[in-house]
Amino acid sequence: MALHELHDLFRFVLVRTSHSGNIGSAARAIRTMGFDRLALVAPHRFPDPEATALAAGADDVLGQAAIHDDLVAGLAGTTFALGLSARRRGVNLPELDPREGAAQALAAARRGEHVALVFGNERTGLENDELSRCHAMVRIPSVDDFSSLNLSQAVQVVAYELRMAMLAEEGRGPVADIDPDEAPADAEQVERFFTHLAETLDDIEFHKGRSPTTIMLKLRKLFLRARPELRELRILHGILADAQRMAELAHKGKP
Ligand code: SAH
Repeated sequence: MALHELHDLFRFVLVRTSHSGNIGSAARAIRTMGFDRLALVAPHRFPDPEATALAAGADDVLGQAAIHDDLVAGLAGTTFALGLSARRRGVNLPELDPREGAAQALAAARRGEHVALVFGNERTGLENDELSRCHAMVRIPSVDDFSSLNLSQAVQVVAYELRMAMLAEEGRGPVADIDPDEAPADAEQVERFFTHLAETLDDIEFHKGRSPTTIMLKLRKLFLRARPELRELRILHGILADAQRMAELAHKGKP
């Protein structure tokens, strides 16, 4: 069974970053706190000399940064995600401060889970559908009338809190890989389930003119809170497939 150093289990995910300088500053921010996994989702410009300049020597972090087209790909392999947001948005998620977020993230990593810390675009932040892929929202308690930190400074706050939480329990050593049968499903597996669920709701004509978006957000919240294991998702896929089959039979039977 593979052993992980704790810091390897954390991934800092920057979504649709506009200013490549912020990517460099974020690389520096996480490197100073002992982390090196950066994932970039649809960055506007990367690689870029501005990023390299502001990384101030954290070139290893930039050099191994993974680039993805969308957030689901950026979250692949992770089973616990915290979304950083200055504002509450329409998604009704549990809200934590960075210290509570760090404690939960560390507890998940201690169980061998891979954890994502997700940060939004400089101007628009994380969209609702991006936050709806996270298990909780973390808000840095800034003042109401000027709440938005610079992206890389928000990254620094979170990396710092994680490091403080890890230092408080230093000496506990590496973490064993989680048993795949007991692991919660990862972001891609959960997303496949949501796609199947949305298709099935269409097939059984569940919506009857109501908006599928609202109901899907509620169902997402329910299943993310449950953190289903892969074997549990398999049962649910089986139920959905049967419902689809029955719907098809019912359609065929119609005059
Ligand atoms: N106008 C945007 C701000 C984006 S700042 C908004 O209201 O969401 C860029 C990113 O930095 C945010 O998406 C978030 O991930 C992080 N960030 C900035 N200020 C934050 C705060 N007070 N709490 C949590 N995250 C914050």
